[in-house]
Amino acid sequence: MAVETAAYTEQTDIQRDITEMVRQFVDEQIIPNAEQYDHEDSFPEPIVEQMKELGLFGVTIPEEYGGMGLDLTTYAMIVEELSRGWISISGVVNTHFIGSYLLMKFGTDEQKDHFLPKMATGEIRAAFSLSEPEVGSDVQGIKATAKKAGDGSWELNGQKMWVTNGLGSGVVFVLMKTDPKAEPPYRGMTCFITEKEPWREVNEGEHAGLTIPPKIKKMGYKGVESTELVYDGYSCPPERVLGGEEAGVGQGFVQMMDALEVGRVNVAARGVGIAQRALELALRYSQERKTFGKPIAQHQAIQFKLADMATKVEAARLLTRKAARMKDAGERSDLEAGMAKLLASETGKECVEECFRIHGGYGYSKEYEIERLYRDAPLLLIGEGTSEIQRMVIGKKLLQRHKI
Ligand SMILES: Cc1cc2nc3c(=O)[nH]c(=O)nc-3n(C[C@H](O)[C@H](O)[C@H](O)COP(=O)(O)OP(=O)(O)OC[C@H]3O[C@@H](n4cnc5c(N)ncnc54)[C@H](O)[C@@H]3O)c2cc1C
Repeated sequence: MAVETAAYTEQTDIQRDITEMVRQFVDEQIIPNAEQYDHEDSFPEPIVEQMKELGLFGVTIPEEYGGMGLDLTTYAMIVEELSRGWISISGVVNTHFIGSYLLMKFGTDEQKDHFLPKMATGEIRAAFSLSEPEVGSDVQGIKATAKKAGDGSWELNGQKMWVTNGLGSGVVFVLMKTDPKAEPPYRGMTCFITEKEPWREVNEGEHAGLTIPPKIKKMGYKGVESTELVYDGYSCPPERVLGGEEAGVGQGFVQMMDALEVGRVNVAARGVGIAQRALELALRYSQERKTFGKPIAQHQAIQFKLADMATKVEAARLLTRKAARMKDAGERSDLEAGMAKLLASETGKECVEECFRIHGGYGYSKEYEIERLYRDAPLLLIGEGTSEIQRMVIGKKLLQRHKI
């Protein structure tokens, strides 16, 4: 149902091999099955099991912990391919990737040894939790708290919102207020590594005090669950403060913002993937459908749409790879990650809408893949910072870098 387009590639042999392997997996296992999981809103367990076998949960985790030890650029290429199939699949690995990044960058040796080998195989999956019912963009406004208890542990209380993989994950990297009087507020925030029982709504025993209400019903991005998390007297041992108590208390905001920078490259790659798929579907349909005696692809108005789509996909891909490469080279890439996320998520939405228009009435039918893409694409405008927030980040960084 789609026409393949040759993407501009500048890849190493390893990147080419792994991208081809993932593309084949997507074409054979994800695209033919996505519709069913989407319509049922059910977790794609068999696909996730195969991803574990392919090693896709440990792409960026160092080899010494059982991962592939690949860089962010290669990871972004993989995410683009997965998202070309179905963005919910990239959602299953996205927060996991952010969690492993947090551990690799800030974790203690004990934390790395404890979590990374199980995360590399996908035995446990990670979730990442900042948002609350009243707070999304303005992260410094979170209300959930962690207080030091008499036995040395931390007692976590509060409600979190929109947690991707909230039920199926075995570990949640969660931001809590540890000093509500801190000024500015970000200095009083800490990231806790909270363990839980995967797929259990009410945790008991050592994980008691964490409940997961029924998943939030969404317009798209089905299959992967988004949930609230309710911490009510959850006891977190001191060694589960990210980076250890001494280094980690009060550092949570900075750690999470750092992770969001790579998270934004990841969302940008998802935008490129969904835009690429929309282009492929549009190229196919426009050559098949005839009006006024010729394929609609022969009408100039349709060709212009295809031309704009292809141009935007390439531009978004190049900017995404640039941001990833800068991060891999150890350069500050906050500006570029923001630009990539902004351009690629908007490109995803625009290309999907153009593909939908090209499909005419059939785009509105659940028989056609574009209907799912039309419900999925808007998420990318929101997650990991809305387009307005990206523009704020870009504007601020531009002025910082070019101060007169
Ligand atoms: C399906 C899904 C999955 C998600 N997964 C996760 C997850 O795993 N973990 C997690 O922590 N969060 C997650 N989120 C939450 C997501 O990060 C937030 O929804 C997002 O950051 C926006 O926050 P908000 O929804 O509270 O909107 P708000 O912050 O209330 O913003 C509302 C509107 O106001 C605009 N706005 C806000 N401030 C400004 C400003 N200063 N200037 C101009 N405009 C502004 C915003 O751009 C937006 O248009 C998820 C969300 C969804 C929908």
